[in-house]
Amino acid sequence: MKLPIYLDYNSTTPVDSRVLEKMLPFFSENFGNSASRSHLFGWKAQEAVENAREQVANLINAESKEIVFTSGATESNNLAIKGLFEINYPNKKHIITIQTEHKAVLDVCKHLEKLGVEVTYLQPDYTGLITIEQIKNALRPDTFLISVMYANNEIGTIQPMKKIGELAQEHNILFHTDATQAIGKLEIDVQKDNIDLLSLSGHKLYAPKGIGALFIRKNSRASKLIAQMDGGKHERGFRSGTLNVTGIVGLGEACELAKKELTTDNQRLIMLRNKLESEILQNISDVKVNGNITNRLPNLTNISFGGVDGETLLMSFRDIAVSSGSACTSASVEPSYVLKSIGLSDVMAYASIRFSLGKYTSQAEIDFTIKYVKETVELLR
Ligand SMILES: *Cc1c(COP(=O)(O)O)cnc(C)c1O
Repeated sequence: MKLPIYLDYNSTTPVDSRVLEKMLPFFSENFGNSASRSHLFGWKAQEAVENAREQVANLINAESKEIVFTSGATESNNLAIKGLFEINYPNKKHIITIQTEHKAVLDVCKHLEKLGVEVTYLQPDYTGLITIEQIKNALRPDTFLISVMYANNEIGTIQPMKKIGELAQEHNILFHTDATQAIGKLEIDVQKDNIDLLSLSGHKLYAPKGIGALFIRKNSRASKLIAQMDGGKHERGFRSGTLNVTGIVGLGEACELAKKELTTDNQRLIMLRNKLESEILQNISDVKVNGNITNRLPNLTNISFGGVDGETLLMSFRDIAVSSGSACTSASVEPSYVLKSIGLSDVMAYASIRFSLGKYTSQAEIDFTIKYVKETVELLR
C-alpha cells in the first residue's frame, strides 16, 4: 500500500489505463484534424470523434447528435446558461438555481445578474435537498431556466431530478443540470428525467482533464442556444475550435466503461464507504455525517469532527489525501459555502472532511484510513 492514500476522487480521478491506451494513437499516428475533409488523416480523426460521441450519448440515453464536446463542465455550464440567456433576455430574465451549486453555475449566474438577469438561489434543507414546492413557489412568468445540479460535489446529496424535470416540462421552462458528479456514479437517463441540458466532465470519471460535454436536447428551445465561442463553426456551430480528439476519444471510452462497470463498482464503493463511515461513527466521539444519507452518491462521506481545529486537522492528515470543508481563496481560507448553506457553523464547516472513494480504492486503504483518522483526531483532542 502506497502513502498517501488518495481519497479525493470527487476532485479529480486518474485516467483509467484502458482509456489512456485508446487515446495514445491519436497523439501520434492518427493525429489528424477531425475537420479535415479531404484526406485519410482527417477521416480517421472524425470517425473516432463520432464513435466517442455515440459512447457519451449512450451513457445518458441521448442521441449522438445531442452531444457537444467542450473543455469541461465549467465551459458546458457557461455555454448552457449564457447561451440561453442570449435568446431569452430581455423578454425572459429569471433563473432558478440552488445555493449549493458548484461555482461554475453560481458565478455564471452572478455574472448574468450584472447584465440584468434575476436569479433565485434556493436554500436546501439541512441534508442538502430542495423540494418541488420550493421550485414551484419560485416560478415566475419570466423564468427561462431551472438549473439544479444532479448530485453535490461536497456532500453527495442527489436532487429529485425526475420531479424537477416534470415540473419544468409542465411549465414549459428549460431544465439544465450540472451532472458532473453523477456521471459514471449514477444511472442517468435524460429522457426519463426530462433534462434539456446536461453538463459533464471527463476528469471526474477516469478520462483526462480539459475535456467535457454538453447534452443539448434536439428539436427543443435548448437547441437554439447561442454559442459562446465563435470561429470555424465546429460542433454544428455550438462550439468553435479544433476538436480535442485525444481527449474526446478518452471521454468516450470512459463513458463506455462506466456504463458497463457502474453497477459492480458501486456495490463495492458503497460497501467500503459504509465501512469507513460506520467505523468512524462508532469509534470516534463527537462526529456527524453531513448530507442526505438516503439520497447520496455511493462513493462519498462528509464528516464533521467536533472539538478539533479544522485547519490543524487537515494539515495533520498527511497520509491521506482528502479535502476539507473549506476553500482556499487567494488571501484566506473560507469555510465551505455548501456546508454553511445546510446550516453548519463556520467552526464545524472548517472541521469537516470529505472522503471520496473511487474504483482504485482498496479494502486495505480503508482499513488504514479508519485507524489513521481515529489516531489523528484523538491526538489533536
Ligand atoms: C468538477 C466540477 C465542475 C468543474 O468541472 P471542470 O471540468 O473541471 O470544469 C463543475 N461542477 C461540478 C459539480 C464539479 O464537481
